[in-house]
Amino acid sequence: MKIFDTFQTLSEALAQERSGNKTIGFVPTMGALHDGHLSLIGNAAKLSDIVLCSIFVNPTQFNDPEDLKKYPRNVERDIALLEKNNCSMVLLPGEKDVYPDGFEMRTFDFDGLDKVMEGASRPGHFQGVANVVYRFFDAIEPDYAFFGEKDFQQLRIIETMVIRHALPVKIVRCPIVREQHGLAMSSRNERLTAEERQLAGNIYKALLKAKSLWNEDRDIKTINTAVKEIIAETPGMSLDYFRIAKEEDLLPVVRKEAGVKCRAFIAVFLGNVRLIDNLPLYD
Ligand code: AMP
Repeated sequence: MKIFDTFQTLSEALAQERSGNKTIGFVPTMGALHDGHLSLIGNAAKLSDIVLCSIFVNPTQFNDPEDLKKYPRNVERDIALLEKNNCSMVLLPGEKDVYPDGFEMRTFDFDGLDKVMEGASRPGHFQGVANVVYRFFDAIEPDYAFFGEKDFQQLRIIETMVIRHALPVKIVRCPIVREQHGLAMSSRNERLTAEERQLAGNIYKALLKAKSLWNEDRDIKTINTAVKEIIAETPGMSLDYFRIAKEEDLLPVVRKEAGVKCRAFIAVFLGNVRLIDNLPLYD
């Protein structure tokens, strides 16, 4: 596995691989890797000849400086994990490489996709995400890029960016990887105590409840109440938002419509950690 710390040295190595007609699969991450990330790496290895993983804790997507400071970092462990898991190249760029002096942040128009849910709770978050991903795509020119459905709103925003800017990359959606009791894997889980981590299984329990009520054709109000109850009954947990929304435009659903794919989305606080999750309401 080759490790690069600048776009320049990476680009030279990629040019060589491309001249041998190799396809590049790109997995952008912020590190503190877990099995969710490794599933993206596994998918990339199936579809592409070269698997490139980046680790960069992107400051422009954090609206809360405390959250950025507390974000878990463990690069040595990450590198060892990647080495064992079919990764061919790792990019660990410095901040000045990603955002060189004079870099101008773009303002992307996502028709409101970036304003709801995570966008409403974390103003500016998705503009930061889109800028960093655009910068990486531009410098790396991957054939495929792999994103987890764990961050479904982010995935829709990246898909929209790729279409609108006609970027020559295929986005591959990867399913959510969960712990045994249902908690979606996340780097932020590292900040939970053992007890909180156990309690966090209730987030998935709430989503499953929403799905079963949805399938019984219960109204949105009943579903909202049931979800709120499960969260309120969990010690230390409070709800930021719960919403059933259409996958396409992420707008809230008023009632079921034939052929419209819907998903339940949730964000909670557990202690001082904010966790998000979602579940498709179809099989
Ligand atoms: P992050 O390092 O949190 O920015 O995540 C990097 C990529 O891994 C994103 O595309 C995430 O959606 C994806 N990811 C994170 N957690 C999971 C998970 N539990 N299952 C699947 N993908 C995930």
